[in-house]
Amino acid sequence: MTPRDLLATATRRLADAGVESPRVDAELLLAHALGVPRQRLLTLADVADPGRFDDLVAQRADRVPLQHLTGRAPFRHLELAVGPGVFVPRPETELVAGWVLDRVAELPAPVVVDLGTGSGAIALSVAHEHPGAQVTAVERDPDAIAWTRVNAAARADAGDTPVTVLAGDMTDPGLLTDLDGGVDVVVSNPPYVPDDARLPREVADHDPPLALWGGPDGLDVVRGLLRTAARLLRPGGLLAIEHADAQGTSLPALVRAHGGFTGVVDHPDLAGRPRFTTAQLQNRDV
Ligand code: GLN
Repeated sequence: MTPRDLLATATRRLADAGVESPRVDAELLLAHALGVPRQRLLTLADVADPGRFDDLVAQRADRVPLQHLTGRAPFRHLELAVGPGVFVPRPETELVAGWVLDRVAELPAPVVVDLGTGSGAIALSVAHEHPGAQVTAVERDPDAIAWTRVNAAARADAGDTPVTVLAGDMTDPGLLTDLDGGVDVVVSNPPYVPDDARLPREVADHDPPLALWGGPDGLDVVRGLLRTAARLLRPGGLLAIEHADAQGTSLPALVRAHGGFTGVVDHPDLAGRPRFTTAQLQNRDV
């Protein structure tokens, strides 16, 4: 079979299974199965043994996330290792990391804490793109933090400034007390999905529940996160929290109601949906 025919058949199969981007997924799986870059696929002659590809397509049709099948997830300038047990980083979170990087660009050695880091996407991107940053990545899920550590070690091996990986719960009043009042930015993509939300099978069946569910209004963990952030941040320090599209009003309101924060702003993602809230811890003397 030619790559062209294999891709046409696989694309139909994935489309029939309800996969959102069937052609792209088919191409990425064929490239992965053959160990070649995606751009080279159509220059290849016949594929002698498409067995591995067929197996991957069957799993994708069964709604296993593409990134679990390739084992990799692109995020900004990095490619992270992912698989069962860790939340697959999403493109919308790239904007949250970008906001943090913009805001710390002028600081020579900003102290940044990523709460609920999962694969390490935000923390490792900050360290990669701002070599002076002193980044701590916190994760409570023992399965997820195994992936954080793999990615952190790989980035350090590649020459990035090492990120400190810490097992801990972002709502724990005893978390990182040594940094109290000394953090420049607290950033988080916390679990924020309301309990009654319906999620695609890729998410519901494969992302870790601890990374997703946030109680009746999705904001249970965020309430604890705000207390932690207010304690860790220095006066004037910055907070960035990702949220669900339905929380573009409720999350900023929660930050305002918490007290101590100023300049509470909500930001859209690339699709124009409300996606993350930022704020600044008040300076004590204002
Ligand atoms: N954005 C995720 C989703 O697609 C949810 C992420 C989260 O709760 N942090 O379901």
